[in-house]
Amino acid sequence: MSDFSVTEAQASILQHVKRSVIETVALHDSLSRVLAEDISANRNHPPYDVSAMDGYALSFADIESACSDKPVLLTVVDDIRAGQMPQHTIGHKQAARIMTGAPTPLGIDTVIRVEDTELNGDVVAILAPPKQGANIRPLGENLKNGHVVLTKGMLITPGVLAILAMVKQKDVPVFARPTVAILSTGDELEGIDDPIDENKIPNANSHALYAQCKSLGITATLLGIAKDDPDDLRAKLAEGLNYDVLLASGGVSVGHHDFVRPMLDALGITFHFWRVAMRPGHPLAFGTVQGCEGRRDSAVFGLPGNPVASMVCFEQFVAPALRAIMGHEKLFRRTIKARLKHDIKGSGGRTLFIRVFLSSDEQGYVASSTGEQGSGVLMSMALAEGFMVVPADADKLKAGAMVTVQLLQGMDFQSESDL
Ligand code: AMP
Ligand code: MG
Repeated sequence: MSDFSVTEAQASILQHVKRSVIETVALHDSLSRVLAEDISANRNHPPYDVSAMDGYALSFADIESACSDKPVLLTVVDDIRAGQMPQHTIGHKQAARIMTGAPTPLGIDTVIRVEDTELNGDVVAILAPPKQGANIRPLGENLKNGHVVLTKGMLITPGVLAILAMVKQKDVPVFARPTVAILSTGDELEGIDDPIDENKIPNANSHALYAQCKSLGITATLLGIAKDDPDDLRAKLAEGLNYDVLLASGGVSVGHHDFVRPMLDALGITFHFWRVAMRPGHPLAFGTVQGCEGRRDSAVFGLPGNPVASMVCFEQFVAPALRAIMGHEKLFRRTIKARLKHDIKGSGGRTLFIRVFLSSDEQGYVASSTGEQGSGVLMSMALAEGFMVVPADADKLKAGAMVTVQLLQGMDFQSESDL
């Protein structure tokens, strides 16, 4: 099988993962989840025309000519508060004092804000006319009884949650999160609780992958470290197949001790590809297995062992898959255009994911490398604000060239000095 391109690999993965079942969660727990059903309004809101301002409800025809030199005087015949119904129909040359959110009385078509008036006893002077119809929120402006107000597939943001609260949706139907297991493989790995052994390599991948899952709202299960030993590996991989998604890192290459693929093969996994034309992250296996005897369907990612490669592959392939399972419509990280600060080498037939800093000037974003880009150099990943994506067919890129950058987590905030 020849190497898949990044887009071919993404398409293959998305073709093989299914959207999750629907579950119901409490309103406050629904934040950042994906709505699984359309939601209709169970009332009109506002329930009648209401004032949008503290001011006076009046008939525009009465005050059309008002100005500060020649104010128009109206008699105040009612004082309407929010939550109360008006008592009077407002007649010619009359007005009602009205609060924000209070229902407008009969006989008026406009509300003037209190700042443009002067009250003297029960006479109000109108100093400047608003537009006809101003400052009135019409019945149902917010919610129309029986109308669909939120649609299946919407991301539940605080704003969406506010509407759910208005329609009293205390239990919210959302797409379930997948269960995810994480397994690191390699005789050389040292667990976080093990004493330091200079001959070993501290396990970074399990924890990086755990954090990456967490950033998507998924609490993954850590299955620990498997030895490069067929029996140990097989047992731990089999345990991982009790989850919707298994992430195994290391051991997927062509080395003498790379047993992950043959063991997954023996466990019945169908591989859809196992190498992607990218750097970092060339060895990457993806397969699925249909559940049987009470076991669920599982998708398995054999991620590269090099920590940066594992993290880059998670972002490009695992995250879109997990987001698709959770019902998200936006699967991929937002990209922006940026100017390259320095030259970079050509991509040599593989899509490159270069870890970059982002800054901005009058002409837009500027991208610059976070440092040594080796697939084991975690610092360049730790500092990254984005992945610059260099297409597989790109020649050497000169400083000033426009490039595409995927924004990484945290890029939706900026410091005061950037405002
Ligand atoms: P492999 O793909 O198993 O050949 O591993 C490639 C490189 O990544 C080797 O140098 C491994 O020691 C390293 N590596 C593999 N797994 C991990 C891990 N969980 N944490 C940190 N480094 C790892
Ligand atoms: Mg290994």
